[in-house]
Amino acid sequence: MALYDVDIRPQLDQVSPDIANPQSSRLDEDDSTLSSASSDRSVRSVESTTASKGKWKANINGDWRYGSSESATSTAMSSVSSSTAAEDKTITRPQFTSPLKKRMSDGSIKQPPLRLNSSIGSASEQPQAVPEQPQQDQQTQHIPPKKKRGRPPKDKSLLAQPAPKAPKASRISELKDEVRPRSSIPSRLPAEVHASQAIEAAYASRLNPFELHRGEHSLLADLLMSHEVTVYLNIRNAILRLWHQNPLCGVTPKEAAGCAKEARFFGLAEAAYKWLVRNGYINFGCVETPRDAGIAKSRRSGKQKTVVVVGAGVSGLTTARQLEHLFEHDAKRWTDVGERPPKVIVLEGRKRIGGRVYSKQLRDQVPGSLPDDLRNTVEMGAMIVTGFEHGNPLDTIIRGQLGLRYHLMKDALTIYDSDGRPVDEQRDMLNTELYADISDRAGDFRAAPQDTNTLKGDEELISRCRDPISDGFADFQLEPLPNPMDHLPQYKPAAKRGRRRNAPPQTEKLTGRTRVIEMSNATQSAARAAKEMGWQLREGIARNQSISLNEMARASSHPTLGSVMDDAIEQYQDLVQLTPQDMRMLNWHHANLEYANAAPVSSLSLSGHDQDTGNEFEGAHSEIIGGYTQLPRGLMNLPTKLDVRFDRVVDSIHYNEGAPGESEYTTKVVCSDGQIIEADQVVMTVPLGVLKDDVVDFDPPLPGWKYGVIQRMGFGLLNKVILLYDQSFWDDDRDMFGLLNDAEQQNSLDPEEYARRRGRFYLIWNASKISGRPALVALMAGHAAHDAETTDSNSLLAEINDRLRTVFSPEKVTAPSEVIVTRWKRDPFTRGTYSYVGPRTRSGDYDLMAKPVGNLHFAGEATCGTHPATVHGAFLSGLRVASDVMTAMTGPIDLPLPLVGAPTIKQETVARYNMPQTVPLPPQPSISTNTPATAQVNAPIIKQEHDPTSLASVPVYASAPAPPPPKLAGPPKQSVCARDDSFWARPSFDHNDLDYEASIVGTILSRLGDRPLKPSRPGVNPFLLFTKAKWDECKAHCSRDASTAGRDAIRATLGKWWKAATEEEKRPYLEQSEQAQKVADTQRKEWAEGVEKWDAEARRIRQEFVAEHPPPVVQGEGVGGSKRKSNNSSWVVLDHV
Ligand SMILES: Cc1cc2nc3c(=O)[nH]c(=O)nc-3n(C[C@H](O)[C@H](O)[C@H](O)COP(=O)(O)OP(=O)(O)OC[C@H]3O[C@@H](n4cnc5c(N)ncnc54)[C@H](O)[C@@H]3O)c2cc1C
Repeated sequence: MALYDVDIRPQLDQVSPDIANPQSSRLDEDDSTLSSASSDRSVRSVESTTASKGKWKANINGDWRYGSSESATSTAMSSVSSSTAAEDKTITRPQFTSPLKKRMSDGSIKQPPLRLNSSIGSASEQPQAVPEQPQQDQQTQHIPPKKKRGRPPKDKSLLAQPAPKAPKASRISELKDEVRPRSSIPSRLPAEVHASQAIEAAYASRLNPFELHRGEHSLLADLLMSHEVTVYLNIRNAILRLWHQNPLCGVTPKEAAGCAKEARFFGLAEAAYKWLVRNGYINFGCVETPRDAGIAKSRRSGKQKTVVVVGAGVSGLTTARQLEHLFEHDAKRWTDVGERPPKVIVLEGRKRIGGRVYSKQLRDQVPGSLPDDLRNTVEMGAMIVTGFEHGNPLDTIIRGQLGLRYHLMKDALTIYDSDGRPVDEQRDMLNTELYADISDRAGDFRAAPQDTNTLKGDEELISRCRDPISDGFADFQLEPLPNPMDHLPQYKPAAKRGRRRNAPPQTEKLTGRTRVIEMSNATQSAARAAKEMGWQLREGIARNQSISLNEMARASSHPTLGSVMDDAIEQYQDLVQLTPQDMRMLNWHHANLEYANAAPVSSLSLSGHDQDTGNEFEGAHSEIIGGYTQLPRGLMNLPTKLDVRFDRVVDSIHYNEGAPGESEYTTKVVCSDGQIIEADQVVMTVPLGVLKDDVVDFDPPLPGWKYGVIQRMGFGLLNKVILLYDQSFWDDDRDMFGLLNDAEQQNSLDPEEYARRRGRFYLIWNASKISGRPALVALMAGHAAHDAETTDSNSLLAEINDRLRTVFSPEKVTAPSEVIVTRWKRDPFTRGTYSYVGPRTRSGDYDLMAKPVGNLHFAGEATCGTHPATVHGAFLSGLRVASDVMTAMTGPIDLPLPLVGAPTIKQETVARYNMPQTVPLPPQPSISTNTPATAQVNAPIIKQEHDPTSLASVPVYASAPAPPPPKLAGPPKQSVCARDDSFWARPSFDHNDLDYEASIVGTILSRLGDRPLKPSRPGVNPFLLFTKAKWDECKAHCSRDASTAGRDAIRATLGKWWKAATEEEKRPYLEQSEQAQKVADTQRKEWAEGVEKWDAEARRIRQEFVAEHPPPVVQGEGVGGSKRKSNNSSWVVLDHV
C-alpha cells in the first residue's frame, strides 16, 4: 500500500449516498508533511537512504567501516564509565560561601580572604562551553544498540590546522561615539510609566523583572554588590523595553549604554546587553543585526568555520537564524584572528521547510478569498498560537516583525452528544467541574517543580524606575550577602496560573479556551466538593465522605494519570449518580488531554505529565490566516536568505565527543546521497520520533545517558481529517465544536470501555477563517490517532459524515470537495507528532535531551521542558542551542572589568566627611570609551530622580492635526491607569506622537493624581483564616512526630484538620470570611465609582489637551504596532501591543 499522499476517490458504496459525489470529492491520504508533488520523491528518498548506505560504504575505500560490535560496545562502555548520573537533574544552586564582600575604589570587588568552598555562581565559572555529562542511568543501564561505525576519510589539510586562537575582542569595547547616560530613557516619560513598560517587557521576555535569571546569576553573582543588582535589573529591563518597543530594529550597544543612568554603570549595561543578545532575549528573529561597519572588508577572505544544522523545522531555522545573528554581533571575534565569521548550513531531508508546521495548499485556489493574495491552505500540523501575551517569543516574530494576519479564536464551544443533540450546558458545566476536581486530586501526586533562587533586586525601586541612591560611601563598606540558606532549593506547589476553569490542566496548550481555574475544590471531601458543584449525592452519603487515590497511585512504580483518574471516576460513582452521558462527557475531557499530550491518558506520567504547567502564555489563542508556514518561511528568508539545502537526508554524523586525543578527527555529516559536509559544530533538530527509531547513525554512538533519555521520553500521535466544502453548513462564527463518543459497550459505566473510541473526531475546528474556504479539521486523538494510521480514508470519511449528519441534519451536509487525512506516524521525517511525559520519563529529562554530547548539540520541541510539544517551544530551543553553540565556539561572555566604576561623591557628602574632592578614577567600562572620566568627578552625576507627580513642566506640542490613529493598543498591566482604553495611546511610528502621548499622560496625572488603586483581595477564604489561627498549634503537633516540621507538612496537616472539622468548629471562620467579604464588596464598590469618575475626568482632560494642542502628524502605521522607530531609542510611547 502506498503510504503517501495517494489520491483516492471515495468508494461510493462506503460513503453515504448524499455525499458520494465522485466528481467533487477527492481524498488525499497525506503523510502530513508532503504535498502531492513531493510524496513520490520522498518515498524514493527513503529507499535511497538504504540503497545509498551501501554505495556510501563502497565510496570510502575501506576507510568507512561499519564499526564492529566490539568497538561500538567499548565506546558505549567508556561513555558509561565516564559519564555522570542521568538521575533527575538537580539545578545548580548558587552557594554563597562568603558573607562579606566590598567594592574597592577602583571599582573592583574584594572578596574576603577566607573562602570556605568555591561559589557555584562564580563569574570565574561562567557558563561552561560543554556542560557536565549527566551520569549513567543507573536504573536501566541502557546500552546503545550496535551501530554502524566508521569515520569518513580524514582531510589531512584540516588536521594540520593550528589550534584556533581564542578570540577575545568585544565589539562593544570599540565603540567610538560618545554615549550619554540616560539617553535611552525618555526624559519626558514619567518614571513610573517607564518602569511599567520595562517591567512589562521583562515579563514579555519570560524574565522576572525583579530577579536575575539563573544564567545572569551565574555570570554576575560574584561581580555585583547586592544593591547593584537593582541597578543591573533596571538597565536590563530598560534594554528589553527598547526591544519590545520595536522588534523591527535590533537594539544597538549605544542604545543599551543609554539605559544606564550613570556612566559608571556602562559596564552593567554591557553585561546586560551581551547576556540578552547571547541568550536570544533581544535582537532575534527576522531583523537586521546591528552591524559593525569596520569589519565588512576583512570578512571576504580568511578561513571560515561551519555549523551544520540538521532539520529545517522551526527549531532548525531558528537555530540557523540566531547563529547568523550571534556571529554577526560578535563578528570581530573572528575577524580579529583573520577568520570570517562562521557559516551555517541547514540540511533538510524534505523538499520543504517547516517540519511539523505545514500549511498544505488546497487543490482549488480561489483568488481573493483571503486578503493580501494569501493562498488557501489547511494546517496538517501546528495550527494554534497559544496566546501572544506574557512571554510568547512568536509574538515578536508573528506580530512584531512579519506582521502576519491572524484570527483570534473564541472559546465558545458546543458539545454534541452521540445522538447529535447538543449537551445541556448545565450538565456540561457539572462534568467539567467534576473533571477539574479529579484532575486536581490526581495533581496531588505531581512532582513538585524545583525553584531557583537567584539574586533579587529591590522591587519597590524597580517599579519606580529608580536606582538605589548611593551616599558615596556605601560602596566602600562591607556589605553582607544574602543568607546562604536562601539559596537552597525550595519546593512549591505547581502554579495554577493560566489554566482554564472549564478545562483540565494542559488542555490550554493547544485548544482555544482561555478561562482560568481559580481555587481547587480538591482540599475538601469529595462528597462536599460534588455537592458544591451541584451534584446530587447518593442516598446515605455523608458530606465528609471522600475518595482516596493513594492505593492506585502506589500500585505501580510508574503510575499513569489515566489509571488514577479512572479510579477517581469509579470512586465518584459511589458518591453521585453518573449517567452514561456523564461518562461520555468525562471521557471527552480525557480525549482533550490526549490531544494536548498526543498520547492516551493511560500512557501519561502521573507525577510529571504537566511538568510545564505555569508557563502558559496569556491572551486569546489564534490561528495564522493563510497558513502557519509563513512563520518558518519568514525565518528562512528574512533579513537574508539562510543556506537551506533540501533533499538532504542525514544518514550519519561523525562527531567529536570531546574525549582526549580525539582532535585528530574532524566532524562530518553524511547524507544519504553520499554528500559529506565537514563541520565544527552540529545541531540535531530532528524530531524525537526520528531519534527513537535510530534512523541516524552516530559515531561514536550516543552515550548511555543520552540514549536512555531518548528511550524514556514519550513521543505521541495525533491525526487530523481535513474536509473542504463548497459551502459551510455550520455556524461560521464558531471556531470549534465537540462530539461525544459512545463506549465500545454502549451505555457502559466502565471508564475503560471508553478509551478506544473517545478521541474519534472529538473536536472539530472550523478552519474557514484561516483557509479562506469552508473547511473543517476533525481531530483523532489518543487511541483514535493510531486507528487513523490503519483505517482507510473512505471509512474515516464515511464515519465523520455520519457524525456530521446527525448534528447538522443530512440535507445540509454536502459532499466534501477535498479530503485530507494525516498519518504522522508513517512520516519518515517525524514518526509521530510531539513529545509527552511518559510514566518512565523523569523530571529533568527534557533538560537532558537539550544537553550536547561533545560538539553535537540538540534542539527541537522535545528539548524544551518549559514549553514542549509546541511551535514556540521549538523556537525557544533554537535560541537556546544557538547560545550553546556560540559558547562552545567562543567561550563564555566576556565582561568588562570592573563591572561598575567608582561612585562620584556628592558635594554635601564630601563636606560632611571633609574628604578631598577627587577620588581615584576607575578605568571606564568599555561601553563608553569617550565619556570623559574627569567630567564625572567634577560634575556629580548621581542625580536626584525627578518627581513624577510634579509634571507642571510637561511640554506640549503644537503642530498639524493628525489623521485618526490606526489601532487601539492595550495598557501595560502594571500601569497606574491600566484597563482604561481611552487613556492609552494608539501605536504609531512617529516619535513626536510618542512624546505627545507622554505629555497628555503627564497632564492627566498632574491634575488628577494616580488612578485609584484596586483594593486588594481580602483574606476571605475560611480555610486560610483557619490556617492562620491554628498554625502554631499545628506546628507543635507536627513537631511531636518529627524533629523539624516543614511548612508543607504543617499545611498538609492543617488541610486534614480542616477536612475533619465539624460545621460548628468551622463556623467562626466562615462568619469571619463572610464579614470580610462584605467589607471588601463595599470597598470595591467605592473603588469602582472612584475609577469611573477618574476615567471620565481623564477623558475630559485628554480632549481638552488635544483641542488646545493638536497632535503631531502620524507618518504611518507599523507592522505589528512597534513603537521604537529606529535605533534612536529615546522615542517611546505609553502603550503596548
Ligand atoms: C498534528 C500536529 C498538531 C500540532 N498542533 C500544534 C499547535 O496547534 N500549536 C503548537 O504550538 N504546536 C503544535 N504542534 C507541535 C509543533 O508543530 C511542533 O512542536 C514543532 O513544529 C516542532 O518543531 P521542530 O523544529 O522541533 O521539529 P520539526 O518541525 O519536526 O523539524 C524537524 C525537521 O527535521 C527534518 N528531518 C528529520 N529527519 C531528518 C534527517 N534524517 N535528515 C534531514 N532532515 C531531517 C524534518 O523533515 C523536519 O523538517 C503540532 C504538531 C502536530 C504534528
